[in-house]
Amino acid sequence: MQTRETLLEIKDLKVHFPLEKGLLFTKKAGAVRAVDGVSFCVHKGESLGLVGESGCGKSTTIMALARLEHITSGQVLFEGKDLAGMDAQQLIRARKDFQIIFQDPYSSLDPRMRVIDIVAEPMRIFTKKRLLSLTEKQIEEKALSLLDRCGLPSSYTKRYPHEFSGGQRQRIGIARALSLGPKLILADEPVSALDVSIQSQILNLLKDLQKEFNLTFLFIAHDLSVVEYFCNRVAVMYLGNIVELAPSNILYKNPMHPYTKALLSAVPIPDPVAAKTRKRLILNGDVPSPISIRLGCPFYERCPMAMGACEKQKPTLIEIEEGHQVACFLYENAQGGDHA
Ligand code: SF4
Repeated sequence: MQTRETLLEIKDLKVHFPLEKGLLFTKKAGAVRAVDGVSFCVHKGESLGLVGESGCGKSTTIMALARLEHITSGQVLFEGKDLAGMDAQQLIRARKDFQIIFQDPYSSLDPRMRVIDIVAEPMRIFTKKRLLSLTEKQIEEKALSLLDRCGLPSSYTKRYPHEFSGGQRQRIGIARALSLGPKLILADEPVSALDVSIQSQILNLLKDLQKEFNLTFLFIAHDLSVVEYFCNRVAVMYLGNIVELAPSNILYKNPMHPYTKALLSAVPIPDPVAAKTRKRLILNGDVPSPISIRLGCPFYERCPMAMGACEKQKPTLIEIEEGHQVACFLYENAQGGDHA
């Protein structure tokens, strides 16, 4: 059930990758600012979508939250405890509560392991470390029941990953992610490598599992219709920054940030009449390099509404109406509902 209780709070998260030059790569030559000061909350029981073009920092954000990427600065508070400051032992304990579903079901499973062992492995590791107390029989029973719940009957469980289709492999990945009983699932484009007909089956399975296991999702996708279907709220990322965050029904009806407007105007509409009358917003140029340091708005170079102030100052994410936040000078004086 969705609540307003915060499960995960990200405060000013930065992930910069230093660039080195010179013969021995010892001289600093700037940094790739993949995530550049991101703040948001994920509430218990909700699905928060992170959207944006490739290279905007979505996957790096998720990898940093899971501490699979080095955090340059900022806080990642999971149930109030800062994951960014944890040592290896503390992190192993905390990992029981959040798991990742990876984008590529072909490379995220060990090809030498039987399916049942892939799902049982996290439980075996945690039992060995005395962080769980399960017998081998209990582990196997739980792995079988999770595989069955994810749509793989027991006759399949002694097979190897290469014997399965992409959709079936993703079901195995989901069963593995559930094996330790997590509270939060970090889903990194879980359906984008799958055929469209399979995508809806996997999304429906994830929705059912969310209710059944009381899960919270941070869900990455570049397909905006997938996010609209799956997520309660959506955060839009551009060049390592969150530029707009709102409940899905509000964001899709009333996008405010010029970048969100352009993104949504590019989503295909099945109705040809509505598609003809819709105004398409085409952006100029490509996404700028995340290496260069800019003072102003990250969207300045491509924004059709840019003003003088946008070049020199970075707008902060402010709440325009309940739950709807935008980082754009067009709405600076609109706090409380008086929109530009
Ligand atoms: Fe465009 Fe300026 Fe708003 Fe940035 S702050 S999105 S450049 S209008």
